[in-house]
Amino acid sequence: MGFRCGLIGLPNVGKSTIFNALSAAGAEVANYPFCTIDPNIGVVPVPDPRLEEIARILSPPKVTRTTMEFVDIAGLVKGASKGEGLGNKFLGNIRDVDAIVHIVRCFDDPNVVHVHGSVDPVRDIEIVNTELILADLETIERRIEKSERLLKTGDKSLVRQIDALNHIADELGRGMPARAGMADIKDIEILADLRLLTAKPVLYVANVSEEVLTQKKGAYVEQVAQLSHREEAQHIVICGDMEAEIAVLPPEERREFLEDLHIEESGLEKLIKAGYALLKLITFYTTAGTELRAWTVRDGTKAPSAAGKIHTDMERGFIRAEALNYDDFIQAGSLAKAREKGLIRIEGKEYVIADGDIVFFRFNV
Ligand code: GDP
Repeated sequence: MGFRCGLIGLPNVGKSTIFNALSAAGAEVANYPFCTIDPNIGVVPVPDPRLEEIARILSPPKVTRTTMEFVDIAGLVKGASKGEGLGNKFLGNIRDVDAIVHIVRCFDDPNVVHVHGSVDPVRDIEIVNTELILADLETIERRIEKSERLLKTGDKSLVRQIDALNHIADELGRGMPARAGMADIKDIEILADLRLLTAKPVLYVANVSEEVLTQKKGAYVEQVAQLSHREEAQHIVICGDMEAEIAVLPPEERREFLEDLHIEESGLEKLIKAGYALLKLITFYTTAGTELRAWTVRDGTKAPSAAGKIHTDMERGFIRAEALNYDDFIQAGSLAKAREKGLIRIEGKEYVIADGDIVFFRFNV
């Protein structure tokens, strides 16, 4: 399974609009078998100028971009943590994603009803975050009770766990996300299986009008920026309506459309890039047989487990990796020259894959 970002936000903020634009961008790259499993999950190719450059030099018959998954998680309303709206189903869907993309309405439009009567990004963010915090508090309180019961039966190893849980509960009680308290806890493993909603990394997306996007500023955006800064989260600005328009254009016309508006990259490109950064992901490339292909792993992944992304046999039978840095490859101008110059390094089981590596795995089956 790929890395997955969940789109959340109050109703009518533009989630489906943005999700549909992402899906349209994904749909044009054929042959992703998982595309159709669930209408709320979109598999989106990651824009990758380095891949294009490698492809230009190697001219392989087939080039495959790496992908990310986006999930449209509808149904969050005030009271979700108490079962309102889609309540538990909604929260369960968030538990399954690697990162949260929180869409915030920053456009005025009298034709689009706001569920709370007015456009107010900070209030909206707080409504959503309060539901997530309440759900986490419940999860953590249940765990504390259970651990305290077990402690009474003599399992002293639980003392440290209960301390950590109480620390996070205090943060949540102050209205802060769990990730704010996790920095102080050495043994994060204790928390991993709780899959707290507010422990996940968050990207705020200010969904603005086209005017605000082209002028690159606006009061609502400033409010989102400040809040996201306080939370040590990230934010980007996009215009959902415009993305929907761009997504249906033929690819060659998209660039032109953006250039006319003096915009460097589409909101979807920004969103995918930010999601990639949020999850601390890197890309490596393989060029086995007829296919040049980009792959995604977490930063810090060792060579055998990167090989395992491609095939479990390759991880089990891993012998060594031969790795070529992207910049070295471009400078050399061809694989043969890179080999001649000794730029292809031989690396073992402990090698940590670097962003942009072109890797040849050697394995036994
Ligand atoms: P969701 O409930 O969060 O999934 O919201 P939708 O994507 O269904 O959007 C709700 C309404 O807002 C739709 O009528 C969209 O056309 C409109 N909308 C979405 N993005 C924008 C935007 O950037 N500007 C304006 N003016 N309307 C938007």
